[in-house]
Amino acid sequence: MTRLITDYTGKPLNECTELELFNGVLNLVNDAEKEKGYNTGKKKLYYISAEFLIGKLLSNNLINLGLYQDVKKQLEDAGRSLADLEEFEYEPSLGNGGLGRLAACFVDSLATLGLPADGVGLAYHCGLFKQNFENNKQSETPDRWLQWGHESWMRSTGKHYTVDFGGFSLTSTMYEIGVTGYGSKCGKLRLFDVDTLDERVIRDQISFDKKQIAKNLTLFLYPDDSDEDGRILRVYQEYFMVANAAQLILEEAQAKGSNLHDLADYAAIQINDTHPTMVIPELIRRLTQKGISFEESIEIVRAVCGYTNHTILAEALETWPRAYLQKAVPQLLPVIEKLQAYVAERYQEPFVQIIDGNDNVHMANIDIHFSHSVNGVAKLHTEILKNTELAPFYQIYPEKFNNKTNGITFRRWGVMCDPALTSLINETIGNDWIRHADDLKKLEDKKDDPDFLQKILAVKQENKQNFTDYLKNYRGIEVDPSSVFDVQSKRLHEYKRQQLNLLWAISVYNDMVEGKFPTRPITVFFGAKAAPAYIIAKDIIHAILTFSKVLDADPDASKWLKVVMLENYNVSLAEKLIPAADISEQISLASKEASGTGNMKFMLNGAVTLGTMDGANVEIADLVGPDNIYTFGQSSDEVIAHYKKADYVSREYYERDPKLRKAVDFLTGDLMMQNGGDPENLGRLSHELLSKDWFMTFPDFEDYCETKARMLADYEDRESWSRKMLMNTANAGFFSSDRTIAQYNEDIWHLTPDTDK
Ligand SMILES: *Cc1c(COP(=O)(O)O)cnc(C)c1O
Repeated sequence: MTRLITDYTGKPLNECTELELFNGVLNLVNDAEKEKGYNTGKKKLYYISAEFLIGKLLSNNLINLGLYQDVKKQLEDAGRSLADLEEFEYEPSLGNGGLGRLAACFVDSLATLGLPADGVGLAYHCGLFKQNFENNKQSETPDRWLQWGHESWMRSTGKHYTVDFGGFSLTSTMYEIGVTGYGSKCGKLRLFDVDTLDERVIRDQISFDKKQIAKNLTLFLYPDDSDEDGRILRVYQEYFMVANAAQLILEEAQAKGSNLHDLADYAAIQINDTHPTMVIPELIRRLTQKGISFEESIEIVRAVCGYTNHTILAEALETWPRAYLQKAVPQLLPVIEKLQAYVAERYQEPFVQIIDGNDNVHMANIDIHFSHSVNGVAKLHTEILKNTELAPFYQIYPEKFNNKTNGITFRRWGVMCDPALTSLINETIGNDWIRHADDLKKLEDKKDDPDFLQKILAVKQENKQNFTDYLKNYRGIEVDPSSVFDVQSKRLHEYKRQQLNLLWAISVYNDMVEGKFPTRPITVFFGAKAAPAYIIAKDIIHAILTFSKVLDADPDASKWLKVVMLENYNVSLAEKLIPAADISEQISLASKEASGTGNMKFMLNGAVTLGTMDGANVEIADLVGPDNIYTFGQSSDEVIAHYKKADYVSREYYERDPKLRKAVDFLTGDLMMQNGGDPENLGRLSHELLSKDWFMTFPDFEDYCETKARMLADYEDRESWSRKMLMNTANAGFFSSDRTIAQYNEDIWHLTPDTDK
């Protein structure tokens, strides 16, 4: 039976405002979701995560519920458009980057596979900041995604909990966002909000009174932690998240008949990075309160919890001073101390202690000792964890370590964002790949079919034209759709090395000044937010923006090279940008990118990777073969050896390579200063590179430039390039998050799928 939008709007669609129309379709979707019902079962997974970067939901939910064509037609018949509603929808601001997007892909796949599961997190009112560029610099404003006047996907459940902190208690409300599965029942995101929130504590931009916990607790994701108040606030947030989660989990398990000794038969918890770590001592605390012994509580919690490590960057492995925990969550400290005693009794190695000699509490160490599973997120990453980063733990618990290579949902990152490619694929191999992604391999049969290769090129050109139009209409940016679209979009971080790409672009400019021009115009797109307190990252953004002005001001050069730094990179922008990309820049310093998921999205959409042998790039290279990827740079083993020996001196490279020297000098040269460059920012960036360059940009520079030149030359053989595109899409099936989630379930969670639909 067709659902009519007019039943929800109460008047003809052509008479509705955009808001009335949006709310009508939203309510239609919510009803369809409830009618589908939710995956249930004795055992349920709670995927706890500080971030869920879910993106807009309207079209995604329509696709998953099988209503997309029908709703689109109803709108079109009334002279309205779904595309307009998509633009009207506001993107939820509940995540930051790859980790949050992974959590969003996972809940999609969990629902689709019929697995009983909730995503559990916080309902940030302003989420991550909104990025603006002014004077070639990033500035930040609150992203008030909940106050936009529309009805929201986030529904109150009317359920409340109390959370105790040192000296005061707060109450929460649980909200829900439905997670539609593709042709399956649904799941839920359950997000906790503090009842006393008061947005008036926000001052200028994103600064706010960090001491007023009751009023600020769920305002921002990752509030500035450059001072102590900011760091303690994160402890309050994390505990608020897990104290609510623990109450929910115990309550639901008991309602299903658990006596708590058998909690692991009713609940699995996945700890997404270290932010939810305190769920371990919190559950132990609550179990002992109910009369279960400390020793047994440890065993129960260990059987329930799994931990996913997302990074080997030391600064991202959280440690909290004991004093912070004493202040914010004094009831947990005795538990943590007992856990430390438990560890000390068994293991002498200082590295594996929970509380170190300086009274810092190592959150990952709690996770590793008191979970039954520790996983990395790509093959190489897991090997580095076992052999280097967490080697002392691997010695103790070899059986706990396992790999789960990340994935992406093909509904959003294929069907929804690339309808042209989806149609071509469906015409060719049918549409089973949307749920059984390995089917894409059948496209390989077409790799020597010139007509098909032409069609692939036509799809890419259509997507490039669409993105070009979007930039012109919505952002006032003009680009040449016949240029090569060279894209690096991801968070700004020195290890991701946007600076390497920038130095290459500067070299291309330097060549042009000397009369050497590219074969075809190139547009380099960057999309990246920098953490507000990450100074060098902001300097890199400033350098990119300033250099883009240098190019725009040069009439000869700007015909051949344009640099576009896109403001406020988020999921919605990614969905437009990625299908239009020719080149996927994945150029992190080998060993530093745990997996990456952007790399997988580009691959699925037929972009060819230019990358280091890092994270999941290694697995991409294995799948597509050497003809269909461009790799360069030091290996992870070489990099790790350099760190160990501490023998890297960036200045030696600068002095040896005139092309590199010229590019680095350019950063602080006249042209940059004449185009709005700030000597302080650019001087600091240049000094950082010359005196430290911790992420080894310079040693990979020459190989990067040569490899990129070869890639651009190969691009000119359009048929052969199209074959590379095809081979990337055809081999992307492994990176479906359906595969990742099936592996988590097989090895870690052991949930029974809810099969009746
Ligand atoms: C996928 C995605 C990321 C992660 O990109 P990486 O290249 O893996 O770092 C970050 N931000 C957004 C908006 C994304 O969609």
